[in-house]
Amino acid sequence: MSRAGAEQRLVFCPGSVQLVQEEVLVQGPRVLVTGATGLLGRAVFREFHTSGWMVIGTGYRRARPRFLRCDLTDEDAIRRLLHEYKPEVIVHCAAERRPDIVEHHTEAAVNLNVHATSTLAKEAAVCGALFIYISTDYVFDGRNPPYGEDDAPNPLNVYGRSKLEGERETLRHCPGAVILRVPVLFGEVESVMESTVTSLWLKVQEATEESCTLDHCLQRFPTDARDVAIVCRKLSERMRQDPSIRGIFHFSGKEQMTKYEMALAMAQAFKLPSNHLIPLTEQPAGSAPRPVNSQLNCSRLELLNLSVELRPFTAAITDCLWPFTADKRWRQTVFH
Ligand code: NAP
Repeated sequence: MSRAGAEQRLVFCPGSVQLVQEEVLVQGPRVLVTGATGLLGRAVFREFHTSGWMVIGTGYRRARPRFLRCDLTDEDAIRRLLHEYKPEVIVHCAAERRPDIVEHHTEAAVNLNVHATSTLAKEAAVCGALFIYISTDYVFDGRNPPYGEDDAPNPLNVYGRSKLEGERETLRHCPGAVILRVPVLFGEVESVMESTVTSLWLKVQEATEESCTLDHCLQRFPTDARDVAIVCRKLSERMRQDPSIRGIFHFSGKEQMTKYEMALAMAQAFKLPSNHLIPLTEQPAGSAPRPVNSQLNCSRLELLNLSVELRPFTAAITDCLWPFTADKRWRQTVFH
């Protein structure tokens, strides 16, 4: 069903992009994106917006002025939100996804990753909204990759356990929902520290300083948030037509790399020295345990033609890091 209504519009001005609130007639279906201020949520918001959907984005601390502010740990706020906006689809990106923070602030993380997810799924079922829950490869222990959608999860840290519980709550309350598991993400960041992958840029640039060690033990599959956003949009379109599109899906980049290898790729792409980067083959002590290799088998998505053509890591990461190069002539405005 299509609806018309008010929407935020992105307006191009010389040298910048501004977002203004305008009353415009939008005929596309209505989607609610939680965590729209975050790394993935911004990409998801933009993907649906540019594909003609009417998008409502929510955030929390960074919400204003572009998005709706909604504390998802407040059950009444969730009910009011869904009652007011009546989305046809909900893409639930909001989460506490930093494993070391979750380990030390477990109650707050569980409130968001589990309880808020549970309430959203319950209310989505009541409203008849299609629900997509973004989950993680950290639900697996990483001892026997690659992992299919039906393989038994066994998370090693509290973050992984909270996301797995979020999955279970989603399917318990909303059996028609989709769970989309993804590995470590990068994308158009507001600061390089926003993604584990782009944060390596700081190490790459330390060439004039002392040597710096980088993990060369944990195998990762860095994945572009913009590709995940396309998958979310494709899944939503297909879910609207076909109720058999439900349950667990995996999506992942294809290039296997350690952090050390990602940093080398960045240095090569920007023609920077890399001999200060030292590979470290032991996991650092003191941080939350992480899977060594939780590679995701993505064949379910691929067989249904719901995947995307992936760009090489070097091309995609170069695109994201240009705004942070020392030569500010290359600086580009990040479009949210
Ligand atoms: P992110 O950048 O850290 O963004 C988190 C989002 O959650 C922000 O929009 C934040 O809003 C919102 N949020 C935090 N507390 C909230 C609250 N109480 N009420 C409402 N919203 C709240 O996360 P991300 O990297 O985009 O992750 C998106 C999803 O992908 C998550 O489900 C995560 O588990 C999954 N994932 C991420 C990665 C990765 O490498 N990033 C890897 C695998 C899976 P404010 O900032 O406005 O407060």
